Amino acid sequence: KKRNPGEVEFHQAVEEVLESLEPVLESDSSYEENSILERIIEPERQIIFRVPWVNDAGETKVNRGFRIEFNSALGPYKGGLRFHPSVYTGIVKFLGFEQIFKNALTGRPIGGAKGGSDFDPKGKSDQEIMRFCQSFMTELARHIGDKTDVPAGDIGVGGREIGYLFGQYKRIKNRYEAGVLTGKGLSWGGSLARTEATGYGLVYILAEMFKDKQITLEGKEVIVSGSGNVAIYANEKISELGAKVVAMSDSSGYIYDQNGIDLDLIKEIKEVKRGRIKEYLEKYPEAEYYNQCHDIWTVDCDLALPCATQNEINLEAVKKLIENDVIAIAEGANMPLTPAAIELVQANNILYIPGKAANAGGVATSALEMTQNAMFAEWSFEEVDQKLKQIMINIYQEASTTAAKYGKKGDLVAGANIAAFLKVANAMLDQGVV
Ligand code: NDP
Repeated sequence: KKRNPGEVEFHQAVEEVLESLEPVLESDSSYEENSILERIIEPERQIIFRVPWVNDAGETKVNRGFRIEFNSALGPYKGGLRFHPSVYTGIVKFLGFEQIFKNALTGRPIGGAKGGSDFDPKGKSDQEIMRFCQSFMTELARHIGDKTDVPAGDIGVGGREIGYLFGQYKRIKNRYEAGVLTGKGLSWGGSLARTEATGYGLVYILAEMFKDKQITLEGKEVIVSGSGNVAIYANEKISELGAKVVAMSDSSGYIYDQNGIDLDLIKEIKEVKRGRIKEYLEKYPEAEYYNQCHDIWTVDCDLALPCATQNEINLEAVKKLIENDVIAIAEGANMPLTPAAIELVQANNILYIPGKAANAGGVATSALEMTQNAMFAEWSFEEVDQKLKQIMINIYQEASTTAAKYGKKGDLVAGANIAAFLKVANAMLDQGVV
């Protein structure tokens, strides 16, 4: 904490991982002898840069850009870019740190990184978004490459932004390097099922856990927070499997529809119009809207899928979920539960899948996109989807068997952290002091 003052989210993410590694460190002294922990929490490289751009009124604006290349023991740095006004070093480092372990769990050869900017895309015109992305990439281009560092999307960065970023990269480098970014458009190197992957993957791992525990998804009532990329496709897949999503949100508020949310309408509002979730009421005036997004967790439900942002479920929210007899919580977002919330969830034996495992489907499919780019291949939707499903099943099984092996049966936080740590740490040992 002294070395990284004020980076509260990063401290939170590191503490959670370090706590769960105790049984590993006790059973094998080579990690401590080789200072693996000290090395793993220190990013290999941190890049912070100025992003100047001109808005539609002709005014010059300045934002701050980040790329934290955290760990390359398993492969090129890989992780998304987030454009949101809350972005600062502490957020980028927590996301980059988590990404190391998540990427290891996918079983694909990718290291961990994260980046972004405190730029707020809300209310910006298409032209402003394009100019910002071009300026951002003008600096970022010198640091990335298909064998060096491969960024993707995250909050505020979707297909449109990846397009503008890719265009500028190509222009600067004079090279069509498809594998430098993932989440690309389908006609220029993107992978089928990448858009759906994080949300679908979340439901695949949840379904695998339910199969293991002999619980059915059929008829379960679900809260999905957020209404962005992850939330929309989590809703789509879980509805397909027979559950009913009754509430969704954005940062302004949430809607409750007891008949089940009309997902086509949400897609229209969010993906096409880029509007606010409140507009749902224009078609369904009998649905309910509340202007406090955090209160979404007061809705009665069987399953909670936080798919918006970090620390969106605090102790109070978890108490409400427990009062309402929630069965399971699976994290589509990164670190959506506070440490106190996780503690209470585990003390009450609620089924819980941490984000590192639960939302790894996105980056796993990004790695499949990189593979297709390297092979000049295009796989069908079914082929990618099938691979994604198998990766999620493997992650569940690896996290549960590892938890059991280290005396933490049923604790997927410990299982995921330990399984991922072993892969990364052993690779670091093999590669010497670098
Ligand atoms: P999007 O930008 O597509 O959507 C984000 C959603 O969350 C929006 O509905 C947004 O509302 C809401 N939201 C964002 N910030 C806040 C906030 N501070 N308070 C309340 N609501 C908020 O992002 P994604 O769906 O891609 O990402 C959602 C989460 O999933 C993030 O934690 C991300 O790191 C994680 N994730 C994403 C992956 C991916 O493949 N996209 C992969 C793995 C994890 P509004 O529009 O009002 O801002």
